[in-house]
Amino acid sequence: MKPDAPDWNDLPDLEAIREKYREERDKRLREEGSSQFEELISEGAHNDVDPFADPGFTREPVDEAPTVLIIGGGFGGMLMSVRLREAGIHDFRIIEAAADFGGTWYWNRYPGVQCDVESYVYMPLLEEIGTIPTEKYAHGPEIFAHAQAIGRHFDLYDHALFQTQVSGLEWDDEAERWNVSTSRNDRIRARFVCMANGPYSKPKLPGIPGVHDFEGHTFHTSRWDYDYTGGDTHGGLTKLADKRVGVIGTGATAIQAVPHLGRDAGEVYVFQRTPSTVDVRDNAPTEPGFAETLEPGWQRKRMDNFHILMDGGAQEEDLVGDRWTELTNGLYEILGAHPDPESLSPEEIALIAERVDLRKMERIRGRVDEIIEDPETAAALKPWYRYLCKRPCFHDDYLPTFNRPNVHLVDTKGRGVDRITPRGVVANGKEYPLDCLIFATGFDVSQNYTRRAGYEVVGRGGEKLSEKWAKRTSTYQSFFTHGFPNCFFMMGFQSGLTPNIPHTLEEQAQHLAYVIREALDRGATTVETTQEAEDAWCAEIDKGNDFLSMQASCTPGYFNDEGKVGETEGWLAGFYPEGFEAFFVLLRAWRASGELEGIEVA
Ligand code: NDP
Repeated sequence: MKPDAPDWNDLPDLEAIREKYREERDKRLREEGSSQFEELISEGAHNDVDPFADPGFTREPVDEAPTVLIIGGGFGGMLMSVRLREAGIHDFRIIEAAADFGGTWYWNRYPGVQCDVESYVYMPLLEEIGTIPTEKYAHGPEIFAHAQAIGRHFDLYDHALFQTQVSGLEWDDEAERWNVSTSRNDRIRARFVCMANGPYSKPKLPGIPGVHDFEGHTFHTSRWDYDYTGGDTHGGLTKLADKRVGVIGTGATAIQAVPHLGRDAGEVYVFQRTPSTVDVRDNAPTEPGFAETLEPGWQRKRMDNFHILMDGGAQEEDLVGDRWTELTNGLYEILGAHPDPESLSPEEIALIAERVDLRKMERIRGRVDEIIEDPETAAALKPWYRYLCKRPCFHDDYLPTFNRPNVHLVDTKGRGVDRITPRGVVANGKEYPLDCLIFATGFDVSQNYTRRAGYEVVGRGGEKLSEKWAKRTSTYQSFFTHGFPNCFFMMGFQSGLTPNIPHTLEEQAQHLAYVIREALDRGATTVETTQEAEDAWCAEIDKGNDFLSMQASCTPGYFNDEGKVGETEGWLAGFYPEGFEAFFVLLRAWRASGELEGIEVA
């Protein structure tokens, strides 16, 4: 896809834009950083119960000693299970807090929920299941149903304990097993533990005065209350017709939910701190005959094509061809037209990349002017930062929603809402009375691992993971940490992450299934990384990469620890510096060598 208007020569002065980005960033920097948020807990108006599960569910505690325990039944845990089966390991148990598989797609059922990454590369195991998604960008219910289909196809339901939370993991040095405690008093002693808890599993609320005081109806978007709103994920929120609804947050979730609220609710107040980039969605049903064009191995080929382009690599064709890959294509277009691209220094290439970014951002800002009728609202909806400073968003109905007379943008100019009262929300010093307040305020991505997981991990000699990683998050290959044998982290930090998260999970599942298979074949009972290997990996991570360096000057958000890159030890605490394709290549080479370098197998 060729980047469209504005023309290269029409771009504003780069220094003036940098200054504007700095100014906007400074308005949003907060001393508290990531600690400005609080967890969603059962307190006051908020009750973190699962609205989709049977509240009366009970079962007898289990007492067992599986070879592998997998924590999490989202795509990470499911892919792990599938790759274990493939490796001939069938003695595994899955523990999941929700009442079904699906992870993020189980919880997020808000109206309009949809995946921003193309379904043909995002939805895992399509060829194995024999499914072709119905749309280029699938909606939540279809992805959730696909997770259930994976569960059925690979007989994973028999392995799962649902509505169960792990409450602690403790290494037993004598038995060489993990003692696992749960919310249902199970007694599980697992040889290996794979933690597939996911980065977006803990909803968060702004830690502002009065956050629990609202006396109207309130919920977080990942706990959507259809009993109150009416309708379902497709919309039709008829019970809101006479209600005043407030939404705090304008990230990827709000972008999808607000058009439905605008259509169905009496009055809608959208409280904005930072506008998102909202590019065209251009969704379409899967073309008839698409399946017939595909050859075996097509999904893997398409996934590789997408993530190599996203990593800045070259590909002969762009199979996905959407607004994600446009950025790399834009860069290659300029470099390709250069008479001698090899002669360009890294600084010169960085400058070209910055201008490609600016061109994209100018187009996105221009789109706001084209769509929004009120100039003041249009000005407030324009994002002033580099494209990848925040998670890019795509939608064709979000911006037009602000032309509706019943929808009001309350722009807080970077300050956020002031406080919440029993009657409503106070922003810019004014109280907005509401019947319903919806928190589209995201997830605890930047907090340390054990807080996000919700349990402590106690390793060799009683060492606590929270204490070890309070000094610094440290792993080998992102999976292993010294002192915690047979304990593996999926979707962790210090890894190579693509925007197509199930792709990363697939690579990780293959790697860990290999490690466990090798351990069993060698008759080993423990697998543990050495301190030396861990230190060397951390030194590699500390070299940093372009994404993290750019984040230092970005507007605050969870990509940069709310403006304090590297200060907290959250999910994004460092990446493999060479990029995600190089990370996957490294893992494959490591497996091919068969040496288990950096790992002690006993
Ligand atoms: P985000 O963390 O992206 O957004 C939270 C929003 O809440 C931000 O707009 C933030 O503003 C705002 N906020 C926080 N505190 C305050 C405050 N005190 N006052 C006013 N506003 C406040 O959460 P989301 O749930 O939207 O998305 C989380 C992630 O989940 C996404 O980044 C994406 O990776 C994934 N996702 C993917 C989807 C898809 O594929 N389509 C759909 C939905 C989510 P500020 O920006 O200023 O911090």
